[in-house]
Amino acid sequence: MKYITPINKTRRNNIQRLKREIILKGKLNGFEETLEKLLQTIFDAGCDISCCDICENSSIEQSIDDFLKPHIRIGFKTARENSIHIIWDILHEFGHHLSGKADGEEKTLERERVAWDLGLKQLFCFPELTGYVDNYKNYRDKCLKTYNLHDKTESKT
Ligand SMILES: [Zn+2]
Repeated sequence: MKYITPINKTRRNNIQRLKREIILKGKLNGFEETLEKLLQTIFDAGCDISCCDICENSSIEQSIDDFLKPHIRIGFKTARENSIHIIWDILHEFGHHLSGKADGEEKTLERERVAWDLGLKQLFCFPELTGYVDNYKNYRDKCLKTYNLHDKTESKT
């Protein structure tokens, strides 16, 4: 029998609570298992994640000196045309985490592309999502066009 330490139990409860919150806010019924696995993967990678009701877009905070844990915020202020886009947002922000911190020399758009590519790689870890690859790619292309417009003003994550 596997012994569950209190910390693991807390973490498990946190994942359950967060999963329920995302499903409720994002109308993602049917993706319970996927979300649970995805949240687990994100926490395992040393990253935090939470919902943000006042955020227009999803983003990730990455501190320069590693003093703070990276933190993904899922933006829920604007309703999505498709619920699954929330999962794509999460995969994209997680892609930023996997690609590491922004380097001043790096082009913003290039950094975004890398994060979308890494997100796509993650998507393939979830067999139940592979049927939505075209949806992911369409959303990615749409988002990449948006970044292009904002490219000169500030770096969007
Ligand atoms: Zn981004």
